[in-house]
Amino acid sequence: MKIIVFISELESELQDQWLTSIKKQLINETILLPHQVSESQVKSIDIAIVANPKPKDLDKYPNLVWIQSLWAGVEQLISAVLKKPIKLVRLVDPQLGQTMAESVLAWTLYLQRNMPEYARQQAGKQWKQLPCISSKELRVSVLGAGALSLASLNALSKLEYQLSCWSRTPKQLNGIKSYSDFNGLQAMLRKTDILINLLPLTPQTHHLLDKELLSELPKGSKLINFSRGAVIDTKALLELLDIGHLSHAVLDVFEQEPLASSDPIWSNPKITVLPHISAPTNMHTASEVVANNIRTYREHDVIPKSVDIKVGY
Ligand code: NAP
Repeated sequence: MKIIVFISELESELQDQWLTSIKKQLINETILLPHQVSESQVKSIDIAIVANPKPKDLDKYPNLVWIQSLWAGVEQLISAVLKKPIKLVRLVDPQLGQTMAESVLAWTLYLQRNMPEYARQQAGKQWKQLPCISSKELRVSVLGAGALSLASLNALSKLEYQLSCWSRTPKQLNGIKSYSDFNGLQAMLRKTDILINLLPLTPQTHHLLDKELLSELPKGSKLINFSRGAVIDTKALLELLDIGHLSHAVLDVFEQEPLASSDPIWSNPKITVLPHISAPTNMHTASEVVANNIRTYREHDVIPKSVDIKVGY
């Protein structure tokens, strides 16, 4: 009989909640924690469900066929499958797209309607009306055109922003200008008032937004980073905020998480700090997605679409 192992670095209460939620969806499967797997069972494990595991913890299972991550971002797991015939499947859940779209809309409106400035003005008891720019006048560009970007663009389109996106492969999207390649990125940035980063972290996107590229954004433009901290060169971002080239950044993700209490980013008035909350995984819907993936594999021998290790996402 085949067995599934659940490997996580979650605290035990949360791990138990996940296990209960997934087991409820997969009543015919045996799902064990690593310490529950006996020597004789190790070879029967063909699927691992994982949340932040240490990549080396996956080495113990010689017959592993695929790994199902409970998170959408899997850059830390690439090394676990490198040069091995193991497929890595990340979480693709429409509910996650909806959650990210809500965050993108909320923080785009936050920047559009000058909320950081009004919070500062209130602290200084300052009564001053700032220009109100309508969504139709605002150029909002999204880095990425994947699951979370498309859900976000769809939500933004309801407010009729001037929308663009940038991806590795060009897209045909109704009412959204699609850019690809480096020249396309430069061209898009030059026509952007609010830039939203939803790119996965890969060797190609690491520090992609460096000083040179961030400087292509028009003076006074704003940035939202909701994917991974290291896609942006933080030092360059801080410099451009400092000289006023960029006017504000909403950062949900950082090169080092959690952000150290001594980090000056906490008190930078031009930065809104969020603790990696733009799109938390929904345990209920994610368990359904994972269960469906596993059922499809058991019944039809089909592994869900997996990460392309060569491109890193
Ligand atoms: P996805 O479906 O894999 O989409 C990735 C997009 O990025 C695709 O459009 C892809 O282009 C584009 N891309 C990748 N590498 C590129 C490159 N070198 N140049 C240009 N475009 C590139 O990923 P997703 O589900 O939308 O998730 C995106 C990221 O969000 C995850 O990787 C994770 O890091 C982050 N995330 C954050 C949170 C949070 O709470 N902060 C929650 C969930 C996920 P193609 O379309 O051409 O392939």
